[in-house]
Amino acid sequence: MNKKVLVTGGTGYIGSHICLKLFELGFDVYIIDSFINSSHLNIANLKLINTQKKKNFNNKIHIIQGDIRDKSFLEKLFIGIAKKNKRFYSVIHMAGLKSVTESTFNPLSYWDVNVNGTINLLDVMSKFDCKTIIFSSSATIYGKSKKKFLSEDLPIKPCNTYGETKATIEKILSNLFFSDLGKWRICNLRYFNPAGADPSGLIGEKFCLNPNNLFPYLNLVAGGKKKFLKIYGNDWPTRDGTAIRDYVHINDLAFGHILAMNYLSSNKSQILNLNLGTGNGNTVLEVLKTFQKVNNCEIKYVFKERRIGDVTSLVADNSNLKKLFNWSPCISLSDMCRHSWNWFIKNKSTL
Ligand code: NAD
Ligand code: UDP
Repeated sequence: MNKKVLVTGGTGYIGSHICLKLFELGFDVYIIDSFINSSHLNIANLKLINTQKKKNFNNKIHIIQGDIRDKSFLEKLFIGIAKKNKRFYSVIHMAGLKSVTESTFNPLSYWDVNVNGTINLLDVMSKFDCKTIIFSSSATIYGKSKKKFLSEDLPIKPCNTYGETKATIEKILSNLFFSDLGKWRICNLRYFNPAGADPSGLIGEKFCLNPNNLFPYLNLVAGGKKKFLKIYGNDWPTRDGTAIRDYVHINDLAFGHILAMNYLSSNKSQILNLNLGTGNGNTVLEVLKTFQKVNNCEIKYVFKERRIGDVTSLVADNSNLKKLFNWSPCISLSDMCRHSWNWFIKNKSTL
C-alpha cells in the first residue's frame, strides 16, 4: 500500500511542484487547499503531465477543498483516514499567505491564516498521532543580517509581519517538540528565492498584474504587459550596485522536500532548521541579463529608490542541508529564466 502524504497548500506554486514529485515517486497524495491563491487548473495540468509521461498516478490525487483554520474540516479528514486504519506518513505544510507587502497592510489575516491555521493543523495532527511535518519557512526570518552567507544559527529577527508569522510558527514547532520529547519529527525548510517552473510549462506561479517579486515582473515586461522593470536601488554595495539574492529552481526546491521527508522518517525524532538555497547569489541586473539572453527578449528597466525593507544580499549557507540530505542544486539560473518564460507564454492568456 502506498504511503499517504498530506500536503497543505498543495495546489499553489511550490505545492504543485512537490505534488508532482510525490506522484512520480508513488505516494498517495492528499491535498488540502482553500484555492484562495491557486486554481483547479493546476490540478488538471498535473494530471495532464501524468498522461504525457504515460504514468498512471491520477488515482492517487485526493483534492480536498477547505481552510486550515476550520478545525472540524481537518478532523473530518483525519477521522476518514483513521477509519481505514491508516495514518499520514508525513505532512508537508505550505498553506498560508505569502506577500510581505500585503502582510504589512493586513496583519490580522496573516496572523490568522499562517499562525492560527498552523496551530489547528498541529492540534489535529497531535490528536491523531501524526507527528512528522515539513514546514515552509523563509529566509526572511533572518531580517537584515549583514553576513555574506546566512547560516541557520543566526539570530531570528524578521523585519516584516509575514516574517514574524513564519518565525512564530517555528517557535511553536520548537515548543511542541520539547513538550512531547521523542515523538515529533520536524523540519523547517527556510526557502531563499524559489524561481522557474516545471519544464512542461503546465504548472507554475499564479499570475497577477502587479506582482511584487522579480521573476513574475520580468515575464510581464518581456511579454509586453508592463513597459519596464523598476529596479529597486543601484547603490547597493554589490558588484553592479543592485541587490543580491539566492535564486533556487522550483524543482530543486521540491526535491529538497522529498529528501527531508525521507530523512525524517528514517531517523530518530528531531527538529531541524535548514536553509534551502543554492549558496550562489545573483544581482538583479545579472538575472535580467540572463533572462534576456536565454529567452531572446528585451527587458527595459529604470532604477528607482531602494524598496522599504530590502537588504543588500541574502545568500544561503546550505552546508547543513547538503551534508544531511546529500542535496545539491542541479538547475542553473539560465534554466530558471527559460522555464519561467515558458510557463508565462503558455499561460499568459489566463492573465
Ligand atoms: P502559493 O500562494 O502559490 O501557495 C499557497 C497555497 O496555500 C495556495 O494554493 C493557497 O490557495 C493555499 N492557502 C492559503 N491560505 C489557505 C488556507 N487558509 N487554507 C488552505 N489553503 C490555503 O504560495 P507558494 O509560493 O507556493 O508558497 C508556499 C509556502 O511557501 C507558503 O507558506 C509561503 O509562505 C512559503 N514560502 C514561499 C516563498 C516564495 O518565494 N514563493 C518563499 C519562502 C516561503
Ligand atoms: N526587485 C526589483 N524590482 C522588482 C521586484 C524585485 O528590483 O520589481 C528586486 C528586489 O529589490 C530584490 C530582488 O529583486 O533585490 C528579489 O526580489 P523579490 O521580491 O523577488 O524577492 P525578495 O525581496 O523576497 O528576496
